[in-house]
Amino acid sequence: MEYRRCGNSGLKLPAVSLGLWHNFGHIDRLENARNILRVAFDQGITHFDLANNYGPPAGSAEENFGKIFRDDFIPYRDELIISSKAGWGMWPGPYGDWGSKKYLVASLDQSLKRMGLDYVDIFYHHRPDPETPLEETMATLDLMVRQGKALYVGISSYHPTEATKAIKILKELGTPCLIHQPKYSMFDRWVEDGLLDVLKTNGVGCIPFSPLAQGLLTNKYLSGIPADSRASSHRGNGAIDEDQVSDDKISKVRMLNEIAVARGQNLAQMALAWILKNKNITSVLIGVSKPEQVLDSIRCLENYSFSDDELKRINKILQ
Ligand code: NDP
Repeated sequence: MEYRRCGNSGLKLPAVSLGLWHNFGHIDRLENARNILRVAFDQGITHFDLANNYGPPAGSAEENFGKIFRDDFIPYRDELIISSKAGWGMWPGPYGDWGSKKYLVASLDQSLKRMGLDYVDIFYHHRPDPETPLEETMATLDLMVRQGKALYVGISSYHPTEATKAIKILKELGTPCLIHQPKYSMFDRWVEDGLLDVLKTNGVGCIPFSPLAQGLLTNKYLSGIPADSRASSHRGNGAIDEDQVSDDKISKVRMLNEIAVARGQNLAQMALAWILKNKNITSVLIGVSKPEQVLDSIRCLENYSFSDDELKRINKILQ
């Protein structure tokens, strides 16, 4: 595994990290979840990313992670970077959503209980809140670090202007923003429009989520929608569904796949390599439904340099 420094901080993250958004809930097989985590850790994937609402049902990914952690990972706690988040709807009423101090403090306490941890390594505000003053949300992140419940803090899905303000407030409070977690893949390049520059200028790390566009940027949908795929499982909550596997997308996937094969990679590996070619990206945050996908995807690290000609051809397909 390659480890990359997270912005200007002292922390290094594996170039490939594992997220537990799907396939770790109570609706999933615990034994499969355990195998995925064990295979990932054995490959040097030292960073597992969670959030209060991962499951389904919400909270169950943290509960299952807690069980597996107790059985298999307690001796390795100091070799692991475990993150959680709050910011999306978690419980009813006005105190279980968005970015108030009331919500975030309660949510992190619940997450720590579910996972059986004393602290998380990184705690994120999961999405910007247009109503709560940013000062309140950022002061809460600072408080968590001072209370020892989180070592570092980050933000997710903040746009460049909001991110700039949040980074400034955190710096003034004395708890620098470690990392930003944005959606970024060949099919969703919004971060190239200012956000990556903001992060680079401020020495903040970047860990893109859904780098395979939830599985679209692999060869799995080339001949229809397999029964065991995320798109066919109707999970809701932002998970890809059959409508998103459109003819237009698949024709692009087919062309991208040809470039990947010519590079000696499969499309999943090339799609991850394409993100990691930028040294300012700290880590790509992948999801997997089986341990074999971990082994397959991390081979992106074997080649993440691209010729100008390859990049030109890829850009033309993505336009
Ligand atoms: P990906 O884009 O990596 O999609 C993962 C899916 O792609 C897998 O479930 C699997 O689909 C398929 N896949 C993975 N590897 C392969 C492979 N080698 N070959 C073929 N198919 C493959 O990421 P996710 O959308 O899962 O997101 C990753 C993580 O990012 C989450 O777990 C979470 O931690 C974080 N995240 C954060 C968000 C935020 O708001 N901050 C929002 C969303 C995600 P299948 O199940 O069909 O086999």
